[in-house]
Amino acid sequence: MIDLHFHSYYSDGIDSPADLAKKAKEIGLATVCLTDHNAINGYQEFMTAGQSLGLNVVTGVEIYTNYKDKRLHLLGYDFNPDDQDLNLILKELQEKHLPQVKETINILKNDGWKIEEKDAFAGPAAYIGMANIAGLLPKDAQNWERIKKDFNWHQGKIIPITEIIAKYFYKENKGNFSPYKNKCPIYREAEMPIEKAIKLIKQAGGKAVLAHPGQHLSWREDQIVSELKDFGLAGLEAISSHHSWQQIEHWQILAKELDLLITVGSDFHGQVPEDWQFLVRSPWDFFKINKSDSFLLFDKKEK
Ligand SMILES: [Zn+2]
Ligand SMILES: [Zn+2]
Repeated sequence: MIDLHFHSYYSDGIDSPADLAKKAKEIGLATVCLTDHNAINGYQEFMTAGQSLGLNVVTGVEIYTNYKDKRLHLLGYDFNPDDQDLNLILKELQEKHLPQVKETINILKNDGWKIEEKDAFAGPAAYIGMANIAGLLPKDAQNWERIKKDFNWHQGKIIPITEIIAKYFYKENKGNFSPYKNKCPIYREAEMPIEKAIKLIKQAGGKAVLAHPGQHLSWREDQIVSELKDFGLAGLEAISSHHSWQQIEHWQILAKELDLLITVGSDFHGQVPEDWQFLVRSPWDFFKINKSDSFLLFDKKEK
């Protein structure tokens, strides 16, 4: 079994890289890749732990990118982790958006949430993203009461963190960058143009793969993938936990047509022991998860 997409606490995951390696071994994965957002800080720890367990470990990263009016996630694989340009640019992305993090926390505070800047910066995350901030909200009892009320929570109901983000981190507006109709984020991740990111990965000796394309592109936008191939895109993460069966089929067919690699990724972020969750709760859940409405928005829009 292969899983080439998951996150540690160096971005918005919960587990340490060493714990992820252990979990991967336990569930029988053979080839694994840690792909933190805009960060490769966990690589060495993951490599050491993974290799000692007999796992085949590939270097990885997930970079926030944009192309035209799209926000796309780009996976980089099998690159030289010591590449200077790559390390420099990731560091820039990590630092560039710290003011955004602070601003978002202020917006949330003004909206009555109990959230402190120091908590966002307290963890080991090299890149602090939207999920890091959203994950702080349910930890405060008063916040949690508000979330429970807003989501009509009942015993046993799980509130995916993606829905917490969709509800509180987007405001009414006709924003181009939002996956949510007529809503734009109060927060933007630190992105770079996808052409540059593909080039960066390639120059570091790696392969660039478009992450969960079905999350960002509709089926009428296959042309975009051809354009990205011209920039040097090497593959599509066709087999993603974010995809419906139809999407898995569609993106595999397109990859075949364009002679691109097909990769598989769970996008596992870790298990939290409460009633709010990341959607993919374990790599085992892979295709057994209940799709929440927020993930079906794209399909709905198409109809
Ligand atoms: Zn992603
Ligand atoms: Zn991811």
